[in-house]
Amino acid sequence: MTADTIVIVGASHAGAQLAGNLRKEKWAGDIVLVGDEGRLPYQRPPLSKAYLAGASKLDDFAIRGRQFYEKQRIELVDGSATSIDRSAHTVSLGNGDVLPYSMLALCTGARARALPVPGANLMAVHYLRTAADVEAIRAAAVPDSKVVIVGGGYIGLETAASLRALGVHVTVLEAAGRVLERVTAPVVSTFFDRIHRAQGVDVRTSAVVEAFRGDERVEEVVLAGNETLAADFVIVGVGVIPNTDLALAAGLEVDNGIVVDEGTRTSDVDIVAAGDCVNHHIARYNRRVRLECVAAATEQAKVAAATISGNESGLATLPWFWSDQYDLKLQIAGLSTGYDEVLVSGDPDHDRDFTCYYFSDGELIAADCVNRPKDFITARRAIAQRSSVDKADLIGATS
Ligand SMILES: Cc1cc2nc3c(=O)[nH]c(=O)nc-3n(C[C@H](O)[C@H](O)[C@H](O)COP(=O)(O)OP(=O)(O)OC[C@H]3O[C@@H](n4cnc5c(N)ncnc54)[C@H](O)[C@@H]3O)c2cc1C
Repeated sequence: MTADTIVIVGASHAGAQLAGNLRKEKWAGDIVLVGDEGRLPYQRPPLSKAYLAGASKLDDFAIRGRQFYEKQRIELVDGSATSIDRSAHTVSLGNGDVLPYSMLALCTGARARALPVPGANLMAVHYLRTAADVEAIRAAAVPDSKVVIVGGGYIGLETAASLRALGVHVTVLEAAGRVLERVTAPVVSTFFDRIHRAQGVDVRTSAVVEAFRGDERVEEVVLAGNETLAADFVIVGVGVIPNTDLALAAGLEVDNGIVVDEGTRTSDVDIVAAGDCVNHHIARYNRRVRLECVAAATEQAKVAAATISGNESGLATLPWFWSDQYDLKLQIAGLSTGYDEVLVSGDPDHDRDFTCYYFSDGELIAADCVNRPKDFITARRAIAQRSSVDKADLIGATS
């Protein structure tokens, strides 16, 4: 290692992109990418989609092939970072190794939120965040088996669709009054509820899990009101928690994520951070957010590489996200939080394509586009540029 060493902790979307971008920025020093999953960095979105459905191998969605890292002189270190000594400029690993850094990047992402109910530690209660999680789920997902999925968010619903394709009997439990309640308008929730029921998924809303029961392995799920549901396995998809422990212990500012500035610098100028673990100011909505999407992780990694290399740039991209369920591609432009009006183009009660536009004070702030790629592109541009839109045109469009 040379004096100019960048250590990146976390080898996934943010970490792997950051390493590659450093070379694009002509960073000539050493780059060390530390990851604790024991695999080449891979894309996470296919986990609940093609990988779970058995339609692809992990190699198919490696972020980069092994040769890339060799050619770009990016050293891959398999290990878990356990502490940071900011005054010594070192990172310690679980195996006792100590890595010196000139600049450090924290790309530690997020982990699945646990469900704190009795029986949560029984065998066959799964989470879905890593390739290893999916491999364990796939082993359980034999045709005609019964799964109970806790959580009717994107991960829960994508998982339901993939498991139906494998011939598994699926029940989705959502504690709120509708699926996707936290992230979409009622019209979008109603649409996905209808689609999943039509595919044979037993969708239950206002369903609160009180316990999992079984001898060693989970056998049933107990709901408030004492109803029980038989289950061969359970998947809990109730959100994530940012991995900020390292940053907190090192005394960095943390507030629902590691707080960073426009250049992704943390409260220590020699440490940047990027990805799901980061809380940043988003100019388009003039507020701080912690995003959980590949687009944000990728952009932050690009900006972090520029900052490290002394080439200033700033975070500017509008957040966007996608979700694949059955033959449906949902594309989401912007953030709908705080909307006060919704307009719908299309007929979500009967068709399989429509767009839901979200407004605040008359301004378009977000759009959920189902099988409407043109609407997505147009809306994304209008939202980013804050251009005025003709509401009648939007509703009339049938892209
Ligand atoms: C099933 C699933 C489906 C998704 N689908 C979509 C989608 O359709 N579209 C979309 O935009 N986003 C989707 N996401 C979200 C997207 O995957 C995340 O936004 C993205 O992975 C964030 O990348 P990241 O690098 O910040 O963090 P992560 O992907 O969480 O990676 C962080 C890495 O750091 C490692 N790590 C943490 N702490 C340490 C440590 N101390 N030492 C060493 N290594 C450490 C972790 O093990 C992990 O490998 C999905 C996520 C999941 C789980």
